[in-house]
Amino acid sequence: MERVVAKDYVFHRDFSKQYPVITHAEGVYLYDEHGKRYLDASSGAIAANLGHGVTEIAEAMAEQAKKAGFVHTLRFETKVLHELAAEIGKMAPPSLNRVYFTSGGSEANESAMKLARQYHRDRGKPEKHVVIGRWQGYHGNTLGSLSAGGDSKRRKPYTATLAKFEHIHSPYCHRCPYKRSEEICQREKLLPCAEELERLIKEIGPESISSFICEPIVGSQQGAVVPPDGYLQRVREICDQNDIVFIVDEVMTGFGRTGTDFASEQFGIQPDIITFGKGVSAGYAPLAGMIVSDRIVDSLIENGDGHFIHGYTFSGHPVSVAAGLAAVRYYQRENVLSNCREQSVYLFQRLSELQQKHSSMGQIRGKGLLIGFELLMDRSQDRMFPPSFGAAERLNQEAIKRGATFYPGSGTIDGTNGDHLLIGPPLTITRDEIDELIAILDQALTAFELQVHKLIGKEE
Ligand code: PMP
Repeated sequence: MERVVAKDYVFHRDFSKQYPVITHAEGVYLYDEHGKRYLDASSGAIAANLGHGVTEIAEAMAEQAKKAGFVHTLRFETKVLHELAAEIGKMAPPSLNRVYFTSGGSEANESAMKLARQYHRDRGKPEKHVVIGRWQGYHGNTLGSLSAGGDSKRRKPYTATLAKFEHIHSPYCHRCPYKRSEEICQREKLLPCAEELERLIKEIGPESISSFICEPIVGSQQGAVVPPDGYLQRVREICDQNDIVFIVDEVMTGFGRTGTDFASEQFGIQPDIITFGKGVSAGYAPLAGMIVSDRIVDSLIENGDGHFIHGYTFSGHPVSVAAGLAAVRYYQRENVLSNCREQSVYLFQRLSELQQKHSSMGQIRGKGLLIGFELLMDRSQDRMFPPSFGAAERLNQEAIKRGATFYPGSGTIDGTNGDHLLIGPPLTITRDEIDELIAILDQALTAFELQVHKLIGKEE
């Protein structure tokens, strides 16, 4: 193929699609080369928590680049790195205080799973190597993090097993994988979802298991599904009883997305490792990492030689860390989390109004400004879309045409069936902007439902 324009040289994410070319972005809006405006209801990939064009973050990065933008992160540290680690350590639950930086969330989870193995190895238990993840969940796209994650279009072609990975189901009370009633479970304080973990541990033997990893609220793969009360606390107990490192992936939920610094706080848990990414630099720089409990760090020093056998060229890159520090200060000074909580109430209310009008909107769920809803062919009959229809992507295309973009997802139920739309606008969004988001979503749903009627017509 002859390459005519610069764009022809790009290895596109999906060669079957056309991508608008963004020239600039401001607040909750993106602008393309033709001057068209898009309300960014997905904050990039749920990363741009502070919106676009925050000058002070850009300036902090430029200043750091001029001062010391070096790639020497394996031998030297910087003051900005210390300051950001301290800020993050203070935000985390009390027993987690040590911060390790990576460039992205997938790397953060790889690092956490490796550290868990080293923790056991240093204590004379090298056979503890199996990672347990959940069938509904996402931890990244590298082979290891993909293996820990759930069944999905991203995982299926590889069925990757670098190390040994096992899985349980995520709690999804609305469509319980164990066919239990949410009401009965709540009344009788039953947690079959946590029992499944206990059963699997017994079956494969705790002596071979290194860590359990989960998202506190399942983001991209399930569309903001919140676990039942007591679930994560019970998981914490089960991990303790079996000497299993409990890793909570807060790459999406961290940095205010659910209305608190970390979602772990709302569920009353202290994991052994929390991984983070996206929101730490508010999406301005490749920056992610893990916050590690004192217990694990003490063991590394006392039982090992103090050396975590790991490292990346860009770990704690000064320019990324400077972006993180400026972002964290902005979150605090502008009281961004309180805006998130306030606008969350309003967005939930507006979405339930919209649901009255649109038969394709199923359950609405989430916390803070991480909100999702199921997409159904017909809510009154609880009919799901055939996977081949690509419902969520179609709805998002209708929204893009009308000037807004969301985070579409499929495979909600089991990696293949079930569609949802995830909504995660910048945490700085205003009420008026939410009204605009709802107006565009309303029009997009109307156009989408016309396509759905045609599909139903064909089937009948
Ligand atoms: N964990 C979770 C929960 C995520 O949502 C993501 C990204 N969507 C990742 C890990 C991977 O992060 P990254 O894309 O930065 O590697």
